[in-house]
Amino acid sequence: MNIRCNFCGHSFNLSREFITAAVADAQAQKQKSVAVECVNCRKLVKVSARQMQRFVPRTAASEDEG
Ligand SMILES: [Zn+2]
Repeated sequence: MNIRCNFCGHSFNLSREFITAAVADAQAQKQKSVAVECVNCRKLVKVSARQMQRFVPRTAASEDEG
């Protein structure tokens, strides 16, 4: 998932592992967004948790079986 920093305009990539953990965290804390540190200016960029969720593999998402 590609993120663009609102502060410095730098774009960087988030790993699927990071996104999976971040979305799980946001859901646990009922947060609508996840703060990601920009690799360039180190400021916190807010990313919508719902947007992130689309990059989480199905198997990792909480799916009820049966
Ligand atoms: Zn930045």
